[in-house]
Amino acid sequence: MDDAVVAPALRDAHVHPYSGMDFAALIAFGVARVRDLGSRLGAGEPLPRPADCADPLPEIELGGPFFDRPGPPRLSLAARWDSAEELPGLLDDAVTRGARWIKLYAAFPQELFGFMVREAHRRGLRVALHPAPGGAEAAIRAGVDELEHLACLVPDGDGSKRGTHVLNHRWAHRDPDARWPNLPPGTRLCPTLVVQRKLIEHAASAWAFPGVPGNLAAFWRRMPTTARPWSEQEIAWARAAEPRMHETLLRLADSGVTLVVGSDTPNPGVLPGQGLWEEMCLLVRAGIDPALVFWSTCVRPPAWPASGDDPLMFLSLPSVRSFLAGEPGPVAPVLATLLRGCVFVPNGAGVSESVSQEAR
Ligand SMILES: [Zn+2]
Repeated sequence: MDDAVVAPALRDAHVHPYSGMDFAALIAFGVARVRDLGSRLGAGEPLPRPADCADPLPEIELGGPFFDRPGPPRLSLAARWDSAEELPGLLDDAVTRGARWIKLYAAFPQELFGFMVREAHRRGLRVALHPAPGGAEAAIRAGVDELEHLACLVPDGDGSKRGTHVLNHRWAHRDPDARWPNLPPGTRLCPTLVVQRKLIEHAASAWAFPGVPGNLAAFWRRMPTTARPWSEQEIAWARAAEPRMHETLLRLADSGVTLVVGSDTPNPGVLPGQGLWEEMCLLVRAGIDPALVFWSTCVRPPAWPASGDDPLMFLSLPSVRSFLAGEPGPVAPVLATLLRGCVFVPNGAGVSESVSQEAR
């Protein structure tokens, strides 16, 4: 491995592991750890455990179940709860399963944010929140640990119209002097810019998702945002929204907001591993210091020098240079990933396979 750069491996902070997910693709892109923010695993399915070095599986930071509105869940993975008294018991269950995070979703009642955060923190669980538009302030007041996506930064208006196109329209027409969004320094924010990018890329082909296996493409076409083709006008709003989002994020990062880097795989067009690098490249293109982007994404050893147990990745010099330069373009798998003492080398198909056991 001539001219390889060794670096800490990566953590994707926002993933929904799904059945049939290509975990090997994560390893192929140097992603050694993923944080589950809502999945069958979080809902109680057993965690996959790596058998040996032939098993390219990242570490999974388990999230709880995720919590949306009370009553019958509108999302199959959300926890069923009918009254607030049931919530502490569900948090206890999450702790028993080894969860470290729970996620509150857009329809979780705002008046319960504070209660849920206190109950979660008492149990050592941290709280990620995907608030509805206009919901960032209430989330911060309630002490949530992290905000997901940029949608919550947009004022809710009169609340009568919501959805992707309304939000894109608001971003696209944002007055440069507008006072939103405003987040206090230290707020942790996971922007998931790649979701917007992929929607723009694939809307133009009416969700054909060329080159993507049929079952995954069909799964994406059943999602609410992609259930029908977007009109020219809707695509234009999405395109115009993107630079406004990037400018805003740069301003927030400059004002002391803490960046958390995650891909929100599997949103439409967002692939495991590749999606995280695309997110990192978008952050660099938005003007954020590449060193900060990298530092915010890597699995950081608790102490330096590292113990030798920390996951590492090996990158080619040209790929490091193009990342530092913020060059757009296709991202490539890494040369190799070292995890649990196993070296995984991506094969030509982008799938990892172990080539040697005990590397230490
Ligand atoms: Zn998500």
